[in-house]
Amino acid sequence: MFDLAVVGAGIVGLAHALAAARRGLRVVVIDRDAQANGASIRNFGLVVVSGQEPGPSRKRAERSREVWLELSEQAGIGILHTGKLVAAQRPEALDLLEAFHALPEADGCRMLTARETAAHQPGLDVSRLSGGFLSPFELRVESREALPKLTAFLAERHGVTFRFGVAVTAIAPPAIETSHGQIKARRIAVCPGDDLVSLYPERIRGYGVRRCKLQMLRLGPPRHRLRSALVSDLSLLRYGGYAMLPQATTLRDRLEREAAPALDNGVHLIVVQSQDGSLVIGDSHHYGPTPDPFASEDVDALILAEFSRLFGGAVPPVVARWTGTYASASGHASFRDAPHDDVRVVMVTSGTGASTGFAIGEETISDLFG
Ligand SMILES: Cc1cc2nc3c(=O)[nH]c(=O)nc-3n(C[C@H](O)[C@H](O)[C@H](O)COP(=O)(O)OP(=O)(O)OC[C@H]3O[C@@H](n4cnc5c(N)ncnc54)[C@H](O)[C@@H]3O)c2cc1C
Repeated sequence: MFDLAVVGAGIVGLAHALAAARRGLRVVVIDRDAQANGASIRNFGLVVVSGQEPGPSRKRAERSREVWLELSEQAGIGILHTGKLVAAQRPEALDLLEAFHALPEADGCRMLTARETAAHQPGLDVSRLSGGFLSPFELRVESREALPKLTAFLAERHGVTFRFGVAVTAIAPPAIETSHGQIKARRIAVCPGDDLVSLYPERIRGYGVRRCKLQMLRLGPPRHRLRSALVSDLSLLRYGGYAMLPQATTLRDRLEREAAPALDNGVHLIVVQSQDGSLVIGDSHHYGPTPDPFASEDVDALILAEFSRLFGGAVPPVVARWTGTYASASGHASFRDAPHDDVRVVMVTSGTGASTGFAIGEETISDLFG
């Protein structure tokens, strides 16, 4: 009998396993895939702190950032960027950033002039910039490497048992029925990503969850190395910490006039760089119960056009394209539901699992084990 069974080996499941294993509990993680293959390895790997909504989301991001830093030492997970530059093109974006900069959450962040922004990040087209905002808090990991490293670390250093290629079909604590027989555990954390129907569908439905599809691209190495993660005006409407400010309305009005197709497709720009110099850029947002798997060329063109505007037309060749999906709900960034005293269903519903997952895992383990 295990102390804890975790369903799902994405970042949220692994975060629960880590928090339990650090308490010395006996943990099993069960995933139907042969290795993590969902949102957790398709994302930017950007641990976003600045721009999270003040309150629980921000606190969770701060705590999760600390855990990533611990893991970089303990599990050898490379931190590829620290910090995030918001390259503001429109004066309305700069006004919004100035308002954000006046808040306590922006302590340690810096406003930049257009020249300082271009000096910080060579390659940016200074004629396009109205200024910038530099946050020192963000981290970036290469998720497709970080997840396997974290899995190996949990198995080797903490003795966590992994059962990959095993689907969980039903839960009646302490019994967990799977495609490969029964597993028993005192407590169970269900971290199913955007699977809304296999386990506790009626409970999940109560949170108004739908699925969101995102398009992502990898570009060949640019001429200049990226000194931090980079985002643009469009991103300011997508992160609650910025979007909740009154100045966001003025920015939205202008973007609706100038960038309606991008807004209609939920396009904004995040740029991060990998060890080999290639860039990961994205993304877009399309919602539905089962989003189609096809990456639209028109949507990719919108993402690339925003990149091109910032970098004066210099766009390295596209070397890979993919889509990812995550669970999404309005009104809450995540939820933890208790269908049974010994079971919790945990879902991040705001596309921020890499940023907040470790803190959420610790909270669930405290909830289940005291
Ligand atoms: C393109 C993209 C970019 C993103 N960028 C960022 C970013 O930069 N920063 C950030 O913080 N967040 C980002 N996100 C969001 C983040 O990736 C997600 O919030 C997070 O990965 C969710 O983790 P998860 O473990 O809940 O889900 P997943 O990674 O989807 O893992 C869930 C796992 O559960 C397993 N599973 C489900 N049901 C069962 C079952 N019945 N039996 C066995 N196994 C089961 C699945 O096989 C899967 O492996 C991004 C997401 C996408 C798609």
